[in-house]
Amino acid sequence: MFPLLKQFDSNSLVGRAYVFAEQAHKGMTRASGEPYFSHCEQVAESVCEWHLDEASIAAALLHDVIEDTKTELPEIEKLFGVEVAFLVDGLTKLHTLEYPEDTRYTEVESLRKFVVSFTKDLRVVIIKLADRLHNMQTLKFLTKERQNRFAWETTEIYAPLAYRLGMQKLSGELEDLAFPFIHPEEYKWLVETVKDSYSSRIRYAEKVNPILLRALSENHIRPLKVDSRAKRYSSLYKKLQRYDMDIEKIHDLIAIRIIVKTIEECYAVLGVVHHLWTPVPNRFKDYIARPKPNGYRSLHTTVFCVDNRITEIQIRTEEMHEEGEMGIAAHWAYQQARDKKGYNTQNWSGIKKSGELLWVEQLKNWQENFTDQEKFVQSLKVDFFKDRIFVVTPDNDIIDLPKGATPVDFAYCIHSDIGDQCTGAKVDQKIVPLDYELQSGNVVEIITHKGKKPTEDWLRFVKTEQAKGHIRSALREKTKAFREKAGPLHVEFKVIGQTRHGYLNEITAVLSEFKISMNSIHGQSDPRKTFDTISIRCDALPEQKVAKLLVKLKKTQGTREVTYRFI
Ligand code: MN
Repeated sequence: MFPLLKQFDSNSLVGRAYVFAEQAHKGMTRASGEPYFSHCEQVAESVCEWHLDEASIAAALLHDVIEDTKTELPEIEKLFGVEVAFLVDGLTKLHTLEYPEDTRYTEVESLRKFVVSFTKDLRVVIIKLADRLHNMQTLKFLTKERQNRFAWETTEIYAPLAYRLGMQKLSGELEDLAFPFIHPEEYKWLVETVKDSYSSRIRYAEKVNPILLRALSENHIRPLKVDSRAKRYSSLYKKLQRYDMDIEKIHDLIAIRIIVKTIEECYAVLGVVHHLWTPVPNRFKDYIARPKPNGYRSLHTTVFCVDNRITEIQIRTEEMHEEGEMGIAAHWAYQQARDKKGYNTQNWSGIKKSGELLWVEQLKNWQENFTDQEKFVQSLKVDFFKDRIFVVTPDNDIIDLPKGATPVDFAYCIHSDIGDQCTGAKVDQKIVPLDYELQSGNVVEIITHKGKKPTEDWLRFVKTEQAKGHIRSALREKTKAFREKAGPLHVEFKVIGQTRHGYLNEITAVLSEFKISMNSIHGQSDPRKTFDTISIRCDALPEQKVAKLLVKLKKTQGTREVTYRFI
């Protein structure tokens, strides 16, 4: 029943874990009535299929023993070693991870990252995905309440996580399994609506295939496979929402898929297809030159096909196909196969990936040089979020910040007003300074004071651009408000008068007579020595006083002109 698991003999790590877990779960049944252990077997079988190592397969077999049986972690460690125990512990913790029911959509992305950062070892996440897959496959046996929760978590957390790991097939499967539970009415409608369209389109694809194969063979291209794939219900539903729920507008309900050996052949096939049928404008997508952020590569084109029907055609290499279905695991499997068979790597290894390199893609790149499984597994242990921390609000919301972030960064991340009015912070219920360096897992609470404004000092320690921007603009406003309230700070007089001995003295005498405190005074003579220009800057004065002073200065013998301005 489980062909991949069978290959391990009973003395191996996997074999021993099998016997132990079966014994531990003895007598327990699942909601379906099946022996509980069948679930563990199924999870381990998936983990095998995804090419993980023996420790992962053993951990998959043992993943529920801590949670559901009397077994304790030290026993697992004693029997199966530190590594298996570490994985089982991670799975147990992930299982008990709680988050609020009303988590908002914007926080879901953080939550996904949190799940990963929490475990520090991607193998835990992958085993968890296998666990979730089987739970979703048997969801119909659970109570309505648990069905909803599982389906929601799967759609929001686990399917996107699988997608990010490049495991597109699994991601789609999970979404499809959750769909009928989340939107039962829509699901019923969709199945009914699609039924006829599906079978007619499959018949249509069967008509197209021979024509395509003939054209390819005339061009000396021998594809490895030409088949059709039906669009998944969940993604079809999402697409229908964008197309007025009109099934006739969906052109990739059935897509024809051509799998060839090399990238050159992909483009050659594209040429043949476009020669055979007119492409629909603006529908060609080159995901080989510009892979999707999760690493997906393929050529997609839409053409006016046989009988002028609009049809999507996808072209890719076998490796791209596997990678698209299986993600990082496939990547490793290919590496191994290539090393054995001495495949020519030239055709694809030099492809430059454009667009943002997300973490999964980075992982793939790191993996490129790995030749053995041990190193591959090692790469899964890398802390992907070593530059990020995840802290928690008192309401259990998870906030994603850069490493080194402080309570002020946290406050601005929540709301600019909370940032501006932040006066203190509590971390894990203890008061900390505002420049305190937060750590992953900290529960952070901000103390605010209405009317409080940021200080320049904060710019010294905040890490996020968001905080810096808000602080700067608050500081600018503070200065502006101060100016408006206080009025001008200075008044500057410019006196032009005859160059003569004692003139400057007379001017300063007038100023001291008015009890004016000067900030600066300096004089300048014109080259012909006929006029002096004297600039005087003093603290701002009332208009009246300025007017009187002006009269007096003008009366000084030799004065030609007096001007002033407030600054
Ligand atoms: Mn389980």
